Amino acid sequence: MILGAGFSGTLTAIHLLRAVGGSPVPGRKSPFRIALVDSSGAFGPGVAYGRGAGEGLLNVGAGSMGAFPEAPGDFLGWLGGREDAGGNQAALATAFLPRRLYGEYLEDLLRREREAHPDILETVTGRALDLVPMPDGTYSVFLNQGRYLYAQKVVLALGNFSPPPPVFGGEGGYQGDPRYLGQPWRPNTIERLSEPGDVLILGSGLTCLDFLAALAKRKTRGRIHVLSRRGLFPIAHPPVSIPSKNEGPIPAGTLREIVRAVRRKIAGGAFWRDVIDSLRPQTQALWQGLSLEDRRRFVRHLRPYWETVRHRAPAEVLALKDRLEGEGKLVCHRGRLSYIEPTEEGLEVVFQRRGTGEAVRLLVGYVVNGTGLAADCLRTGDALVRSLLDRGLARPDALHFGLETDAEGRLRPARGEPRHGIFAIGSLRRGTLWETTAVRELRQQAAELAVRLREEEAGEIAPGRLPFDI
Ligand SMILES: Cc1cc2nc3c(=O)[nH]c(=O)nc-3n(C[C@H](O)[C@H](O)[C@H](O)COP(=O)(O)OP(=O)(O)OC[C@H]3O[C@@H](n4cnc5c(N)ncnc54)[C@H](O)[C@@H]3O)c2cc1C
Repeated sequence: MILGAGFSGTLTAIHLLRAVGGSPVPGRKSPFRIALVDSSGAFGPGVAYGRGAGEGLLNVGAGSMGAFPEAPGDFLGWLGGREDAGGNQAALATAFLPRRLYGEYLEDLLRREREAHPDILETVTGRALDLVPMPDGTYSVFLNQGRYLYAQKVVLALGNFSPPPPVFGGEGGYQGDPRYLGQPWRPNTIERLSEPGDVLILGSGLTCLDFLAALAKRKTRGRIHVLSRRGLFPIAHPPVSIPSKNEGPIPAGTLREIVRAVRRKIAGGAFWRDVIDSLRPQTQALWQGLSLEDRRRFVRHLRPYWETVRHRAPAEVLALKDRLEGEGKLVCHRGRLSYIEPTEEGLEVVFQRRGTGEAVRLLVGYVVNGTGLAADCLRTGDALVRSLLDRGLARPDALHFGLETDAEGRLRPARGEPRHGIFAIGSLRRGTLWETTAVRELRQQAAELAVRLREEEAGEIAPGRLPFDI
Protein backbone atom coordinates (compact mmCIF):
# COMPACT_ATOMS: atom_id res chain seq x y z
CA MET A 1 0.00 0.00 0.00
CA ILE A 2 1.40 3.36 -1.01
CA LEU A 3 0.18 6.23 1.14
CA GLY A 4 0.45 9.48 -0.80
CA ALA A 5 0.14 9.82 -4.58
CA GLY A 6 2.33 12.82 -5.30
CA PHE A 7 5.47 12.39 -7.40
CA SER A 8 7.09 9.94 -4.95
CA GLY A 9 4.18 7.57 -4.39
CA THR A 10 3.06 7.67 -8.01
CA LEU A 11 6.52 6.92 -9.39
CA THR A 12 6.98 4.07 -6.93
CA ALA A 13 3.71 2.60 -8.21
CA ILE A 14 4.71 3.16 -11.85
CA HIS A 15 8.04 1.37 -11.38
CA LEU A 16 6.29 -1.56 -9.72
CA LEU A 17 3.78 -1.77 -12.56
CA ARG A 18 6.48 -1.52 -15.21
CA ALA A 19 8.39 -4.33 -13.53
CA VAL A 20 5.45 -6.73 -13.69
CA GLY A 21 6.30 -7.85 -17.21
CA GLY A 22 4.86 -11.27 -17.89
CA SER A 23 5.68 -13.24 -14.77
CA PRO A 24 2.52 -13.56 -12.72
CA VAL A 25 2.40 -15.78 -9.66
CA PRO A 26 0.68 -19.10 -10.53
CA GLY A 27 -2.98 -19.03 -9.60
CA ARG A 28 -3.21 -15.25 -9.63
CA LYS A 29 -3.94 -12.90 -12.44
CA SER A 30 -1.08 -10.63 -11.36
CA PRO A 31 2.01 -11.10 -9.22
CA PHE A 32 0.81 -8.58 -6.63
CA ARG A 33 -1.77 -5.88 -6.00
CA ILE A 34 -1.08 -2.27 -5.11
CA ALA A 35 -3.28 0.24 -3.32
CA LEU A 36 -2.34 3.86 -4.06
CA VAL A 37 -4.01 6.07 -1.47
CA ASP A 38 -4.28 9.84 -1.45
CA SER A 39 -6.42 12.16 0.61
CA SER A 40 -6.73 14.74 -2.17
CA GLY A 41 -8.45 12.45 -4.65
CA ALA A 42 -5.79 13.27 -7.27
CA PHE A 43 -3.24 10.63 -8.29
CA GLY A 44 0.02 11.93 -9.74
CA PRO A 45 0.40 15.67 -9.26
CA GLY A 46 0.64 15.86 -5.46
CA VAL A 47 0.97 19.20 -3.74
CA ALA A 48 3.50 20.85 -6.06
CA TYR A 49 1.93 20.09 -9.43
CA GLY A 50 -1.77 19.97 -8.68
CA ARG A 51 -4.61 22.45 -8.36
CA GLY A 52 -2.80 24.48 -5.70
CA ALA A 53 0.04 25.19 -8.16
CA GLY A 54 -2.02 27.92 -9.84
CA GLU A 55 0.14 29.50 -12.51
CA GLY A 56 3.36 28.59 -10.66
CA LEU A 57 6.39 27.60 -12.73
CA LEU A 58 8.80 24.71 -12.37
CA ASN A 59 12.09 25.90 -10.93
CA VAL A 60 14.08 23.50 -13.13
CA GLY A 61 14.28 23.47 -16.93
CA ALA A 62 11.87 20.98 -18.56
CA GLY A 63 14.77 19.06 -20.09
CA SER A 64 15.86 17.80 -16.66
CA MET A 65 12.43 17.02 -15.23
CA GLY A 66 11.86 13.53 -16.65
CA ALA A 67 10.34 11.22 -14.05
CA PHE A 68 12.88 8.43 -14.57
CA PRO A 69 16.54 8.50 -13.52
CA GLU A 70 17.67 6.84 -16.73
CA ALA A 71 15.60 9.26 -18.88
CA PRO A 72 15.79 12.85 -17.62
CA GLY A 73 14.49 14.00 -21.02
CA ASP A 74 11.25 12.00 -20.73
CA PHE A 75 9.12 15.04 -19.83
CA LEU A 76 10.47 16.83 -22.87
CA GLY A 77 9.60 13.83 -25.02
CA TRP A 78 6.07 13.81 -23.59
CA LEU A 79 5.73 17.52 -24.33
CA GLY A 80 6.82 16.93 -27.91
CA GLY A 81 3.82 14.69 -28.36
CA ARG A 82 1.38 17.43 -27.38
CA GLU A 83 -0.16 19.73 -29.94
CA ASP A 84 -0.16 22.69 -27.55
CA ALA A 85 3.50 22.25 -26.53
CA GLY A 86 4.74 25.20 -28.59
CA GLY A 87 8.40 26.13 -29.04
CA ASN A 88 11.16 23.91 -30.34
CA GLN A 89 12.72 21.17 -28.20
CA ALA A 90 15.94 23.08 -27.52
CA ALA A 91 14.03 26.11 -26.22
CA LEU A 92 11.65 23.93 -24.19
CA ALA A 93 14.55 22.07 -22.54
CA THR A 94 15.66 25.18 -20.67
CA ALA A 95 12.18 26.72 -20.22
CA PHE A 96 10.51 26.94 -16.81
CA LEU A 97 7.12 25.53 -17.68
CA PRO A 98 3.89 25.64 -15.66
CA ARG A 99 3.86 23.18 -12.76
CA ARG A 100 0.33 22.09 -13.61
CA LEU A 101 1.57 20.85 -16.98
CA TYR A 102 4.05 18.69 -15.13
CA GLY A 103 1.17 17.37 -13.02
CA GLU A 104 -0.63 16.35 -16.22
CA TYR A 105 2.49 14.50 -17.32
CA LEU A 106 2.56 12.52 -14.06
CA GLU A 107 -1.15 11.71 -14.32
CA ASP A 108 -0.66 10.56 -17.88
CA LEU A 109 2.26 8.28 -16.95
CA LEU A 110 0.14 6.65 -14.25
CA ARG A 111 -2.89 6.33 -16.53
CA ARG A 112 -0.86 4.48 -19.14
CA GLU A 113 0.60 1.97 -16.68
CA ARG A 114 -2.81 1.42 -15.16
CA GLU A 115 -4.33 0.67 -18.52
CA ALA A 116 -1.52 -1.77 -19.26
CA HIS A 117 -2.05 -3.58 -15.93
CA PRO A 118 -5.73 -3.16 -15.04
CA ASP A 119 -5.84 -5.82 -12.29
CA ILE A 120 -2.94 -4.60 -10.23
CA LEU A 121 -3.47 -1.03 -9.12
CA GLU A 122 -6.38 0.34 -7.14
CA THR A 123 -6.50 4.05 -6.40
CA VAL A 124 -8.21 4.92 -3.13
CA THR A 125 -9.27 8.39 -2.00
CA GLY A 126 -8.84 8.76 1.74
CA ARG A 127 -6.56 10.06 4.46
CA ALA A 128 -4.63 7.40 6.34
CA LEU A 129 -4.95 8.09 10.05
CA ASP A 130 -3.55 5.03 11.74
CA LEU A 131 -1.37 2.04 10.93
CA VAL A 132 -1.46 -1.10 13.02
CA PRO A 133 0.83 -4.11 12.67
CA MET A 134 -1.16 -7.36 12.69
CA PRO A 135 0.01 -10.52 14.45
CA ASP A 136 0.78 -12.21 11.10
CA GLY A 137 3.25 -9.47 10.14
CA THR A 138 0.89 -7.57 7.84
CA TYR A 139 -0.53 -4.06 8.33
CA SER A 140 -3.95 -2.58 8.68
CA VAL A 141 -4.34 1.06 7.71
CA PHE A 142 -7.34 3.02 8.94
CA LEU A 143 -8.69 5.69 6.58
CA ASN A 144 -10.73 8.73 7.51
CA GLN A 145 -13.98 7.44 5.96
CA GLY A 146 -13.92 4.57 8.43
CA ARG A 147 -12.47 2.09 5.94
CA TYR A 148 -9.65 -0.35 6.72
CA LEU A 149 -7.12 -1.50 4.13
CA TYR A 150 -4.69 -4.37 4.62
CA ALA A 151 -1.30 -4.90 3.03
CA GLN A 152 1.94 -6.74 3.30
CA LYS A 153 4.14 -3.68 2.77
CA VAL A 154 3.47 0.00 3.30
CA VAL A 155 5.22 2.95 1.64
CA LEU A 156 4.89 6.36 3.25
CA ALA A 157 5.05 8.97 0.49
CA LEU A 158 3.43 11.75 2.48
CA GLY A 159 5.39 14.74 1.15
CA ASN A 160 6.21 17.74 3.31
CA PHE A 161 4.67 18.65 6.62
CA SER A 162 3.13 22.10 6.76
CA PRO A 163 5.56 24.60 8.28
CA PRO A 164 5.12 24.86 12.05
CA PRO A 165 3.42 27.99 13.38
CA PRO A 166 6.04 30.63 14.17
CA VAL A 167 7.21 30.19 17.74
CA PHE A 168 6.95 33.01 20.20
CA GLY A 169 5.60 33.74 23.64
CA GLY A 170 2.06 34.91 22.70
CA GLU A 171 -1.16 33.05 23.39
CA GLY A 172 -1.08 31.37 20.00
CA GLY A 173 -4.79 32.14 19.50
CA TYR A 174 -4.07 33.08 15.89
CA GLN A 175 -3.41 29.44 14.99
CA GLY A 176 -7.09 28.58 14.88
CA ASP A 177 -7.99 31.87 13.20
CA PRO A 178 -9.14 31.42 9.56
CA ARG A 179 -7.07 34.48 8.63
CA TYR A 180 -3.86 32.60 9.53
CA LEU A 181 -3.09 30.33 6.55
CA GLY A 182 -0.84 27.69 8.04
CA GLN A 183 -1.03 25.28 5.09
CA PRO A 184 0.25 27.40 2.23
CA TRP A 185 -0.47 24.90 -0.57
CA ARG A 186 -4.20 24.68 -0.04
CA PRO A 187 -5.88 25.44 -3.39
CA ASN A 188 -7.76 28.50 -2.04
CA THR A 189 -4.73 30.29 -0.53
CA ILE A 190 -4.21 32.56 -3.56
CA GLU A 191 -7.91 33.50 -3.62
CA ARG A 192 -7.76 34.55 0.02
CA LEU A 193 -4.57 36.56 -0.43
CA SER A 194 -6.09 38.27 -3.48
CA GLU A 195 -8.93 39.75 -1.42
CA PRO A 196 -8.75 43.54 -0.88
CA GLY A 197 -6.49 44.62 1.99
CA ASP A 198 -2.91 44.13 3.12
CA VAL A 199 -1.51 40.62 3.57
CA LEU A 200 1.69 39.22 5.05
CA ILE A 201 3.80 36.36 3.71
CA LEU A 202 6.17 34.82 6.26
CA GLY A 203 9.37 33.62 4.59
CA SER A 204 11.12 34.82 1.43
CA GLY A 205 11.95 31.55 -0.34
CA LEU A 206 10.49 29.84 -3.40
CA THR A 207 7.06 29.58 -1.76
CA CYS A 208 6.97 33.34 -1.32
CA LEU A 209 8.03 33.93 -4.93
CA ASP A 210 5.26 31.63 -6.07
CA PHE A 211 2.68 33.68 -4.23
CA LEU A 212 4.11 36.91 -5.60
CA ALA A 213 3.90 35.59 -9.16
CA ALA A 214 0.24 34.66 -8.66
CA LEU A 215 -0.69 37.84 -6.79
CA ALA A 216 0.98 40.16 -9.32
CA LYS A 217 -1.96 39.53 -11.64
CA ARG A 218 -4.75 39.13 -9.12
CA LYS A 219 -4.19 41.47 -6.21
CA THR A 220 -5.60 44.83 -7.17
CA ARG A 221 -6.18 46.39 -3.73
CA GLY A 222 -3.85 46.26 -0.74
CA ARG A 223 -0.15 45.74 -0.23
CA ILE A 224 1.81 42.53 0.13
CA HIS A 225 4.26 42.44 3.04
CA VAL A 226 7.01 39.84 3.25
CA LEU A 227 8.82 39.16 6.51
CA SER A 228 11.92 37.02 6.88
CA ARG A 229 14.82 37.06 9.30
CA ARG A 230 17.49 38.02 6.81
CA GLY A 231 15.47 39.19 3.82
CA LEU A 232 17.25 36.66 1.57
CA PHE A 233 15.41 35.70 -1.61
CA PRO A 234 16.51 32.84 -3.87
CA ILE A 235 19.19 33.80 -6.37
CA ALA A 236 18.24 33.81 -10.06
CA HIS A 237 19.27 30.97 -12.32
CA PRO A 238 22.14 32.30 -14.45
CA PRO A 239 21.24 32.80 -18.13
CA VAL A 240 21.28 29.60 -20.15
CA SER A 241 23.89 31.21 -22.39
CA ILE A 242 26.45 30.59 -19.61
CA PRO A 243 27.36 26.91 -20.03
CA SER A 244 27.60 24.93 -16.81
CA LYS A 245 30.76 23.09 -15.86
CA ASN A 246 31.29 20.17 -13.54
CA GLU A 247 33.67 21.33 -10.81
CA GLY A 248 33.98 17.84 -9.38
CA PRO A 249 33.40 16.53 -5.86
CA ILE A 250 34.64 17.89 -2.57
CA PRO A 251 36.28 15.58 -0.03
CA ALA A 252 34.06 14.55 2.88
CA GLY A 253 34.99 16.23 6.14
CA THR A 254 33.75 18.43 8.91
CA LEU A 255 31.43 21.31 8.08
CA ARG A 256 34.33 23.73 8.40
CA GLU A 257 36.45 21.68 5.98
CA ILE A 258 33.65 21.43 3.44
CA VAL A 259 32.94 25.18 3.57
CA ARG A 260 36.65 25.91 3.17
CA ALA A 261 36.89 23.59 0.18
CA VAL A 262 33.90 25.32 -1.46
CA ARG A 263 35.41 28.76 -0.81
CA ARG A 264 38.78 27.65 -2.21
CA LYS A 265 37.17 26.50 -5.45
CA ILE A 266 35.31 29.77 -5.89
CA ALA A 267 38.38 31.83 -4.95
CA GLY A 268 40.31 29.77 -7.52
CA GLY A 269 38.05 31.08 -10.28
CA ALA A 270 35.24 28.51 -10.43
CA PHE A 271 31.74 29.93 -10.97
CA TRP A 272 29.73 29.60 -7.69
CA ARG A 273 26.76 28.06 -9.51
CA ASP A 274 28.94 25.27 -10.90
CA VAL A 275 30.52 24.54 -7.50
CA ILE A 276 27.09 24.30 -5.82
CA ASP A 277 25.59 22.18 -8.61
CA SER A 278 28.61 19.87 -8.66
CA LEU A 279 28.03 19.19 -4.96
CA ARG A 280 24.54 17.88 -5.60
CA PRO A 281 25.33 14.23 -6.36
CA GLN A 282 27.34 14.00 -3.14
CA THR A 283 25.18 16.15 -0.85
CA GLN A 284 23.55 13.16 0.84
CA ALA A 285 26.92 11.52 1.51
CA LEU A 286 28.43 14.78 2.83
CA TRP A 287 25.42 15.26 5.12
CA GLN A 288 25.65 11.71 6.43
CA GLY A 289 29.34 12.22 7.13
CA LEU A 290 28.69 15.25 9.35
CA SER A 291 28.51 14.94 13.11
CA LEU A 292 25.18 15.80 14.71
CA GLU A 293 26.71 19.00 16.04
CA ASP A 294 27.85 19.98 12.54
CA ARG A 295 24.40 19.22 11.12
CA ARG A 296 22.86 21.47 13.75
CA ARG A 297 25.41 24.17 12.99
CA PHE A 298 24.63 23.95 9.29
CA VAL A 299 20.89 24.24 9.90
CA ARG A 300 21.29 27.17 12.30
CA HIS A 301 23.88 29.25 10.45
CA LEU A 302 24.35 28.17 6.85
CA ARG A 303 21.01 26.84 5.75
CA PRO A 304 19.44 30.23 4.81
CA TYR A 305 22.40 30.93 2.50
CA TRP A 306 22.45 27.39 1.15
CA GLU A 307 18.72 27.62 0.31
CA THR A 308 19.20 30.82 -1.69
CA VAL A 309 21.96 29.39 -3.89
CA ARG A 310 20.74 25.82 -4.12
CA HIS A 311 17.00 26.48 -4.67
CA ARG A 312 17.27 29.11 -7.37
CA ALA A 313 14.41 30.85 -9.12
CA PRO A 314 13.69 31.81 -12.73
CA ALA A 315 15.07 35.32 -13.37
CA GLU A 316 11.69 36.53 -14.66
CA VAL A 317 10.05 35.72 -11.32
CA LEU A 318 12.69 37.74 -9.43
CA ALA A 319 12.24 40.60 -11.90
CA LEU A 320 8.54 40.53 -11.12
CA LYS A 321 9.28 40.76 -7.41
CA ASP A 322 11.54 43.78 -8.02
CA ARG A 323 8.84 45.40 -10.13
CA LEU A 324 6.18 44.95 -7.42
CA GLU A 325 8.57 46.40 -4.87
CA GLY A 326 9.35 49.37 -7.14
CA GLU A 327 5.64 50.06 -7.58
CA GLY A 328 5.12 50.06 -3.82
CA LYS A 329 2.80 47.02 -3.99
CA LEU A 330 5.30 44.86 -2.14
CA VAL A 331 7.19 45.72 1.06
CA CYS A 332 9.98 43.38 2.19
CA HIS A 333 10.90 43.47 5.88
CA ARG A 334 13.84 41.91 7.68
CA GLY A 335 13.14 41.02 11.26
CA ARG A 336 12.01 38.59 13.90
CA LEU A 337 8.34 38.00 14.51
CA SER A 338 7.21 38.93 18.02
CA TYR A 339 3.53 38.01 17.90
CA ILE A 340 0.36 37.72 15.87
CA GLU A 341 -2.84 38.80 17.60
CA PRO A 342 -6.31 38.32 16.10
CA THR A 343 -8.40 41.53 16.28
CA GLU A 344 -11.72 42.54 14.75
CA GLU A 345 -10.01 44.62 12.06
CA GLY A 346 -7.50 41.93 11.07
CA LEU A 347 -4.42 40.14 12.34
CA GLU A 348 -2.09 42.42 14.25
CA VAL A 349 1.52 41.44 13.60
CA VAL A 350 4.45 42.85 15.51
CA PHE A 351 8.06 42.15 14.59
CA GLN A 352 11.47 43.49 15.60
CA ARG A 353 13.32 45.04 12.72
CA ARG A 354 16.72 43.46 12.08
CA GLY A 355 19.60 45.75 12.89
CA THR A 356 17.68 48.43 14.84
CA GLY A 357 15.46 46.23 17.04
CA GLU A 358 12.62 48.68 16.43
CA ALA A 359 9.16 47.17 17.02
CA VAL A 360 7.09 47.40 13.83
CA ARG A 361 3.32 46.84 13.78
CA LEU A 362 1.30 45.70 10.77
CA LEU A 363 -2.44 45.13 10.49
CA VAL A 364 -3.22 42.62 7.75
CA GLY A 365 -6.17 40.66 6.46
CA TYR A 366 -4.25 37.39 6.14
CA VAL A 367 -0.93 35.92 7.24
CA VAL A 368 0.35 32.99 5.20
CA ASN A 369 3.14 30.82 6.53
CA GLY A 370 5.55 30.28 3.65
CA THR A 371 8.57 29.43 5.76
CA GLY A 372 9.05 26.24 3.77
CA LEU A 373 10.39 22.93 4.89
CA ALA A 374 11.32 23.83 8.45
CA ALA A 375 9.16 21.02 9.76
CA ASP A 376 9.30 19.33 13.14
CA CYS A 377 7.75 15.88 13.01
CA LEU A 378 7.03 15.98 16.74
CA ARG A 379 4.96 19.13 16.29
CA THR A 380 3.10 18.03 13.20
CA GLY A 381 -0.63 17.55 13.51
CA ASP A 382 -0.41 14.61 11.07
CA ALA A 383 -2.39 11.79 12.69
CA LEU A 384 -0.59 9.01 10.81
CA VAL A 385 2.88 10.20 11.79
CA ARG A 386 1.71 10.61 15.38
CA SER A 387 0.35 7.07 15.37
CA LEU A 388 3.61 5.65 13.98
CA LEU A 389 5.58 7.42 16.69
CA ASP A 390 3.14 6.50 19.48
CA ARG A 391 3.13 2.85 18.44
CA GLY A 392 6.92 2.76 18.40
CA LEU A 393 6.96 1.84 14.68
CA ALA A 394 9.01 4.94 13.91
CA ARG A 395 11.38 7.31 15.60
CA PRO A 396 12.19 10.87 14.67
CA ASP A 397 15.59 11.62 13.20
CA ALA A 398 17.94 13.51 15.48
CA LEU A 399 16.84 16.90 14.09
CA HIS A 400 13.14 15.98 13.98
CA PHE A 401 12.86 16.85 10.31
CA GLY A 402 11.18 13.54 9.67
CA LEU A 403 11.46 9.86 10.50
CA GLU A 404 14.69 7.97 10.73
CA THR A 405 15.23 5.39 8.00
CA ASP A 406 17.89 2.86 7.13
CA ALA A 407 19.83 2.94 3.86
CA GLU A 408 16.93 1.27 2.03
CA GLY A 409 14.32 3.70 3.31
CA ARG A 410 12.85 1.32 5.92
CA LEU A 411 11.58 3.08 9.02
CA ARG A 412 13.68 2.61 12.10
CA PRO A 413 11.43 1.65 15.01
CA ALA A 414 11.61 3.36 18.42
CA ARG A 415 13.80 0.53 19.65
CA GLY A 416 16.07 -1.92 17.86
CA GLU A 417 16.73 -2.48 14.20
CA PRO A 418 14.15 -2.26 11.43
CA ARG A 419 12.57 -5.59 10.63
CA HIS A 420 9.18 -4.48 9.46
CA GLY A 421 7.81 -3.66 6.03
CA ILE A 422 7.18 0.07 6.36
CA PHE A 423 9.22 2.28 4.04
CA ALA A 424 9.46 6.03 3.58
CA ILE A 425 10.33 8.06 0.52
CA GLY A 426 10.90 11.77 0.02
CA SER A 427 10.78 14.52 2.61
CA LEU A 428 10.13 12.16 5.52
CA ARG A 429 13.78 11.09 5.04
CA ARG A 430 15.13 14.63 5.22
CA GLY A 431 16.95 14.19 8.53
CA THR A 432 18.70 11.09 7.18
CA LEU A 433 19.49 12.35 3.68
CA TRP A 434 19.00 16.14 3.74
CA GLU A 435 18.67 16.38 -0.06
CA THR A 436 15.45 14.47 -0.66
CA THR A 437 12.74 16.87 -1.84
CA ALA A 438 13.24 17.53 -5.55
CA VAL A 439 12.47 15.40 -8.58
CA ARG A 440 16.10 14.56 -9.27
CA GLU A 441 16.51 12.75 -5.94
CA LEU A 442 12.95 11.42 -5.73
CA ARG A 443 13.02 9.73 -9.13
CA GLN A 444 16.12 7.83 -8.04
CA GLN A 445 14.58 6.88 -4.69
CA ALA A 446 11.34 5.71 -6.30
CA ALA A 447 13.20 3.47 -8.75
CA GLU A 448 15.35 1.95 -5.98
CA LEU A 449 12.45 1.48 -3.59
CA ALA A 450 10.42 -0.35 -6.23
CA VAL A 451 13.32 -2.77 -6.77
CA ARG A 452 13.53 -3.38 -3.03
CA LEU A 453 9.79 -3.99 -2.72
CA ARG A 454 9.86 -6.40 -5.64
CA GLU A 455 12.77 -8.33 -4.15
CA GLU A 456 11.01 -8.70 -0.82
CA GLU A 457 7.69 -9.49 -2.43
CA ALA A 458 9.23 -12.29 -4.46
CA GLY A 459 10.39 -14.03 -1.34
CA GLU A 460 7.50 -13.44 1.03
CA ILE A 461 4.08 -13.15 -0.46
CA ALA A 462 1.64 -15.96 -0.04
CA PRO A 463 -0.63 -15.47 -3.05
CA GLY A 464 -4.16 -14.34 -2.33
CA ARG A 465 -3.64 -13.79 1.36
CA LEU A 466 -4.30 -10.10 1.46
CA PRO A 467 -6.30 -7.56 -0.52
CA PHE A 468 -3.08 -5.67 -1.22
CA ASP A 469 0.49 -6.84 -1.21
CA ILE A 470 1.85 -3.32 -1.53
C1 LIG B 1 5.29 24.64 -4.60
C2 LIG B 1 6.35 23.65 -4.89
C3 LIG B 1 7.04 23.70 -6.07
C4 LIG B 1 8.03 22.77 -6.36
N1 LIG B 1 8.69 22.84 -7.55
C5 LIG B 1 9.62 21.91 -7.85
C6 LIG B 1 10.30 21.93 -9.10
O1 LIG B 1 10.08 22.79 -9.94
N2 LIG B 1 11.23 20.96 -9.35
C7 LIG B 1 11.52 20.00 -8.43
O2 LIG B 1 12.36 19.15 -8.70
N3 LIG B 1 10.89 19.96 -7.25
C8 LIG B 1 9.96 20.88 -6.93
N4 LIG B 1 9.31 20.84 -5.72
C9 LIG B 1 9.67 19.79 -4.77
C10 LIG B 1 8.53 18.75 -4.69
O3 LIG B 1 8.31 18.63 -3.32
C11 LIG B 1 8.87 17.45 -5.32
O4 LIG B 1 9.24 17.67 -6.67
C12 LIG B 1 7.69 16.45 -5.33
O5 LIG B 1 6.55 17.01 -5.91
C13 LIG B 1 7.37 15.92 -3.96
O6 LIG B 1 6.48 14.86 -4.15
P1 LIG B 1 6.03 13.92 -2.96
O7 LIG B 1 5.19 12.87 -3.57
O8 LIG B 1 7.19 13.49 -2.17
O9 LIG B 1 5.17 14.88 -2.02
P2 LIG B 1 3.74 15.57 -2.31
O10 LIG B 1 3.65 16.10 -3.68
O11 LIG B 1 3.53 16.51 -1.19
O12 LIG B 1 2.70 14.36 -2.21
C14 LIG B 1 2.31 13.81 -1.00
C15 LIG B 1 0.88 13.33 -1.18
O13 LIG B 1 0.51 12.60 -0.03
C16 LIG B 1 -0.83 12.87 0.30
N5 LIG B 1 -0.95 12.58 1.72
C17 LIG B 1 -0.27 13.15 2.74
N6 LIG B 1 -0.62 12.58 3.90
C18 LIG B 1 -1.52 11.61 3.61
C19 LIG B 1 -2.23 10.66 4.40
N7 LIG B 1 -2.09 10.58 5.72
N8 LIG B 1 -3.09 9.81 3.76
C20 LIG B 1 -3.25 9.87 2.41
N9 LIG B 1 -2.59 10.75 1.62
C21 LIG B 1 -1.74 11.60 2.22
C22 LIG B 1 -1.03 14.32 -0.09
O14 LIG B 1 -2.39 14.58 -0.39
C23 LIG B 1 -0.14 14.45 -1.32
O15 LIG B 1 -0.85 14.29 -2.52
C24 LIG B 1 8.32 21.77 -5.42
C25 LIG B 1 7.63 21.73 -4.20
C26 LIG B 1 6.65 22.65 -3.93
C27 LIG B 1 5.89 22.58 -2.63
